[in-house]
Amino acid sequence: MKFPKSQFSTNAASGSKGSTSYDKRNPISSKYFQTTYNTENTCAYIVRPTSHDHLVEVINDLNSKGLTYSVVSTGANLGYGGKAPLASSDVLIDLFFLKGIEVDESRSVAIIEAGVTQQELFDYLVKHDIEYWFHVTGAPAETSIVGNAMAGGYANGVNGIRYDKIISVKGVFNDGTEFDTHRGSNTKYDDSPDIRGCFKGGEHGIITEVIYELDPIPELMQISFFSVDPHEDIASVMDSFEYFRKHNVVQSNISIFNSYRIYAENTGHCSEKILNNQLAFKQEIYKYLSDNGLDFWSGEYSGVIANNYTDKEVLEVTERYIENKLRKYITKFKSIEVTKEDILRLRKNTEARLPENALEGMRGRILTFTGMPKYGSVSMGYWRKGHVDINDMNLERDKCGFLWLALSLNPQSGNCLEIIQNLEKIVIESNLEPFYVVDYIRPHESYIMWSIIYDRENKDDDAIAEQCYNNCVSYIETNTDVSVYRKVRSFSKR
Ligand SMILES: Cc1cc2nc3c(=O)[nH]c(=O)nc-3n(C[C@H](O)[C@H](O)[C@H](O)COP(=O)(O)OP(=O)(O)OC[C@H]3O[C@@H](n4cnc5c(N)ncnc54)[C@H](O)[C@@H]3O)c2cc1C
Repeated sequence: MKFPKSQFSTNAASGSKGSTSYDKRNPISSKYFQTTYNTENTCAYIVRPTSHDHLVEVINDLNSKGLTYSVVSTGANLGYGGKAPLASSDVLIDLFFLKGIEVDESRSVAIIEAGVTQQELFDYLVKHDIEYWFHVTGAPAETSIVGNAMAGGYANGVNGIRYDKIISVKGVFNDGTEFDTHRGSNTKYDDSPDIRGCFKGGEHGIITEVIYELDPIPELMQISFFSVDPHEDIASVMDSFEYFRKHNVVQSNISIFNSYRIYAENTGHCSEKILNNQLAFKQEIYKYLSDNGLDFWSGEYSGVIANNYTDKEVLEVTERYIENKLRKYITKFKSIEVTKEDILRLRKNTEARLPENALEGMRGRILTFTGMPKYGSVSMGYWRKGHVDINDMNLERDKCGFLWLALSLNPQSGNCLEIIQNLEKIVIESNLEPFYVVDYIRPHESYIMWSIIYDRENKDDDAIAEQCYNNCVSYIETNTDVSVYRKVRSFSKR
């Protein structure tokens, strides 16, 4: 397998083969460890290996010198520290230059190195007219697939849990021993131990390359948008979703957003007068959404589901069943049929004509659910800023405060609604807005992704957001049996 030769980083601490040095005269850029919350975790040096073999040399060298290290693939684990390490360490290993991509259509797989981003794999498939896709996350297009998988990430679409799509791995353990579980077939389960899980959070070593499952672009797809108005029965809607997901009536993740989140994504700013009056604010949100062509998403809760089909008759029967069931509880439901030709056309130009009957306000979610990276939901990080330049977003640089609370729970509606309502109270008490998505990600598991968004340019806001985050975690840990499955790296000492 041949990978393109990468150029070595100018601010890397590493030298040539076999003589890696960590030169104090080559200071790290202060921007490198910018984060979306207040932490002092940092590394003294940065090294950016250019190949698997180079990385092995680096690890052996670090071990012989007794230096500690942390690792990132693209280091955009926003809300969890970005490139900042879990705890301060000597060296940051940044896998940015590991850019190899190869696709084996006969096996329906991509062989990708750790630094490959969503955008790069997407561009590769489009450039080579490969009629396969992979699913994309709400994170920036420039985030890696491997780092996201190692952080427990998930993408939108059918079977979007990234880790589950990894067939085999190649890399190096912390002690310098190399591993390579790649085989000629697509088995994940041969005689040897399944070591994929060892590397979550970069704990026992570093993955340099994975074999990753791709899926053929379906002939037909149906993407449905729905909204639940404040007086409608959200619990029954959620019960239907639980049933649909458990019985595979809906194949994709079922995403439900609250109105704040839809509003933030679509405006990137909020009106000052609203901040102290959440009830009035909500009324304004509903009005804004319906006045701006987002009527299908103008309720208290709104969301998306998607299914893939090969046959039109099966599509019609299944979709009629879904719509009839949901219309017992809601009035806002709109479905779009997306053909393979639509997807191939939009892949060439994401600004191109949308599928028949689709509205412009649906473009973002149609792209996301059909595997096209664009802006993700990054613009909501500018919520407290009052403005956003959609073509130049950089949360760390612009001092957007962003913290995540990622929860995994059993998908019962009562359980979920109680948690949401209690978390809302905690966040509103901190005079922040509750932003979240409930995702029916697997038949037996839902996620709640809770975002605390603030402005780091406002003095004291770091402390308020940190306290709010800690109150949320403490509520979850003391009062529920829900797992916090991704955690913020340590806040700085004040
Ligand atoms: C607005 C917004 C929306 C987001 N939406 C989503 C979403 O929809 N889904 C989602 O999953 N996340 C989401 N995120 C969170 C985050 O941005 C992503 O998880 C991102 O994809 C991870 O960044 P990365 O690939 O650069 O990982 P990195 O920061 O490089 O790494 C993540 C972790 O994995 C470890 N690691 C990285 N590479 C390796 C390796 N090669 N070997 C071993 N360990 C390694 C690192 O030590 C680190 O702990 C979102 C964030 C924001 C701000």
